[in-house]
Amino acid sequence: MKKHILIICDGLGDLPVPELGEKTPLEAANTPNMDRMAKNGVTGLMHVLGEGVRPNSDDAHLAILGYNLETEYPGRGQVEAAGLGMVLEEGDIAFRCNLAYVDDELRVIDRRAGRIDNVTPFVESFNGIEIDGIKFLVKPGTGYRMVVVMRGKGLSDKISNSDVHYVTEGQVVEDWEGKKVNIPHALDDSLEAKFTAEVLQKFLEKAHDLLEKNPLNIEKSNKGEPKGNYILTRGPGYYKKLPTFAQKWGLNNAGCIAGAGMYKGIGILTGMDLIFVPGATGEKNTDLIAKINFTRDKIKNYDFLFLHIKLPDIYGHDGDFLGKKAAIEKIDKAIDNLESTGAVIAVTADHSTPCSHKDHSADPVPLLIAGRGIEPDDIKKFGESFCKKGSLGTIQSKDFMKLFLGY
Ligand code: ZN
Ligand code: ZN
Repeated sequence: MKKHILIICDGLGDLPVPELGEKTPLEAANTPNMDRMAKNGVTGLMHVLGEGVRPNSDDAHLAILGYNLETEYPGRGQVEAAGLGMVLEEGDIAFRCNLAYVDDELRVIDRRAGRIDNVTPFVESFNGIEIDGIKFLVKPGTGYRMVVVMRGKGLSDKISNSDVHYVTEGQVVEDWEGKKVNIPHALDDSLEAKFTAEVLQKFLEKAHDLLEKNPLNIEKSNKGEPKGNYILTRGPGYYKKLPTFAQKWGLNNAGCIAGAGMYKGIGILTGMDLIFVPGATGEKNTDLIAKINFTRDKIKNYDFLFLHIKLPDIYGHDGDFLGKKAAIEKIDKAIDNLESTGAVIAVTADHSTPCSHKDHSADPVPLLIAGRGIEPDDIKKFGESFCKKGSLGTIQSKDFMKLFLGY
């Protein structure tokens, strides 16, 4: 069987931009390498979570990799925890969290606590706290982010978010007034959900007390800076072991090359080997050339490599179409002649992040598949409007892996 490289350019898809002559950033970018692959390969569009559904990055990736989100989605908290290298057990509930600044009435003033760059000195003493027989594991992430895991018997992930920006569907928001921290509560009638909500509330209250007394916060308060005095929780996930990606698709092995924690988490949860690339940060300063060079080298040892590139999404959220265009050109330059590895290569996105929206949209994403022996279609350039006319038509993500591995 041929080797396969899947390159997911996060948030690559976009909409026509007037300042770019009604082209999208991808269409406006000078991309000789991706254009060559489009010309020698097949192209199309892909709906990642179905028509009209706006994806997040985690569910979108799992869908493209062939997982059934109805039965196999582990929750964003689980993906983040895996990305931070936390080893979880069956029954653990993981939350994705922010350190935030709230006033005396728990109204959120700044949900990123003034973009604190390191939460460790604020939350390290919370790791291992036990309440009502439930142990809390707290692991700092990048910047103001962290993961909190609840471990013990009788827990449920049917818990509302406490982050007002991410209100859970069906969540009760009385008292909320658009700003107040929404205390987590049970989303179903089970004893487990009720118990989990109660214990989590106790933990958040205790954390708030301890954070108020933290000397760093007293110092910040004296200087009039935003404090880091509350933990906002969202994306609860109940740990369950997923079938590995390699098993699912009959591969000997699969590897993951990513900079940002969440995408490493996708690799870990799906049983891929994490390939560490120095300089891969998942931020604007990431070393793309190093990532592609590792891909070029490691594909010798793997049936399948998943390469994640975060850049286009970052510029999309910024609304910076020139930055996005330049980022796409940078990716193209780094990709160079990756076909020379002999692998079949797919270039696509997990979702569109139109610069005009500064957020993800439901628009389908461009897709190309190239490699030796593939009968090319008539499309000569990689871009949303060109791919629309490609021979693959508009596919659904559930059909992608089968199609890709078929080449
Ligand atoms: Zn994404
Ligand atoms: Zn995004």
